[in-house]
Amino acid sequence: MTAELISGTEIRKAILAEVKEEVEQMKEKTGKVPGLVTILVGSSPASISYVTLKVKTAISLGFHEIQDDQPEDISEEELLKLIDKYNNDPDIHGILVQLPLPKQIDDKKVLTAINPDKDVDAFHPVNVGRLMIGGEEAIFHPCTPAGIQEMIVRSGTETSGAEVVVVGRSNIVGKPIAMMMAQKGVGANSTVTIVHTRTKDLAAHCLRADILIVAAGVPGLVKPEWIKPGSTVIDVGVNRIGMNEKTGKAILSGDVDFEAAKEICGKITPVPGGVGPMTIAMLMKNTLKSAKYALKV
Ligand code: NAP
Repeated sequence: MTAELISGTEIRKAILAEVKEEVEQMKEKTGKVPGLVTILVGSSPASISYVTLKVKTAISLGFHEIQDDQPEDISEEELLKLIDKYNNDPDIHGILVQLPLPKQIDDKKVLTAINPDKDVDAFHPVNVGRLMIGGEEAIFHPCTPAGIQEMIVRSGTETSGAEVVVVGRSNIVGKPIAMMMAQKGVGANSTVTIVHTRTKDLAAHCLRADILIVAAGVPGLVKPEWIKPGSTVIDVGVNRIGMNEKTGKAILSGDVDFEAAKEICGKITPVPGGVGPMTIAMLMKNTLKSAKYALKV
């Protein structure tokens, strides 16, 4: 039987429509809308394209959006001053600094200078701690893990008591999603195992998973015989495996052998069109959440 596809493109559309509706209601009630500033340092084409997408999405939702572009040679002190300005701006609810930053600037110093209550990327150590505590303390969840959890929930996958295996232990995907799935609450209450390059029998762990979340960055790492029949497979990997000569676009592959896996599991995310489109949607949701928190609505 072929698995049901969990489409990030479709879920993203639904989330953005929900956010837009809430923004309209907020405007009616308070006269205010969520405010997001995106700070772009330098002119790396990849960073410009990520920032452009975020800005366009924010504007389409009716956010107050500031794209603050800064030159490549901005000093750390100037950048910290800029962050301080937005930390104290009541119309700004989310501050996003596009990474990577030029070498004269210490990323960690910059990210920890953001007011944790405006840290919509949720990379600040305070937000990492809040995530660990869980419940209402966790105001923001980092965007990619939040997108993964949303896909699991919206696909109707039971998480309570489920065996979740997370392949990868990075700070931006593996560790936070593992912690989120282990918390008490809706879309969580799972029994979680994290596996990585030092794990002895990767296949045996994966085979136990009711929900398998793979974020390794290794194309085709997960073989069909590692997949439990009927399980839900979330493939976070985005790997460039070649170039389409006609379109000039990169050919992308996930970390799971998709064609074979979809004949075994019950639900699966494709690459592209799976977790990828969810990240910006969750960033918008975090900014809305921050505005609601600040405006007490
Ligand atoms: P990362 O920082 O490179 O971490 C990869 C993790 O996978 C590490 O913990 C590593 O283990 C583990 N790993 C690598 N090879 C393995 C193997 N052969 N067996 C078992 N474990 C292995 O990567 P990341 O930032 O989490 O990203 C992972 C993938 O997700 C990448 O393809 C990335 O492009 C993609 N991604 C997608 C999105 C999105 O769609 N929005 C967002 C973020 C990332 P060790 O710790 O032992 O080295």
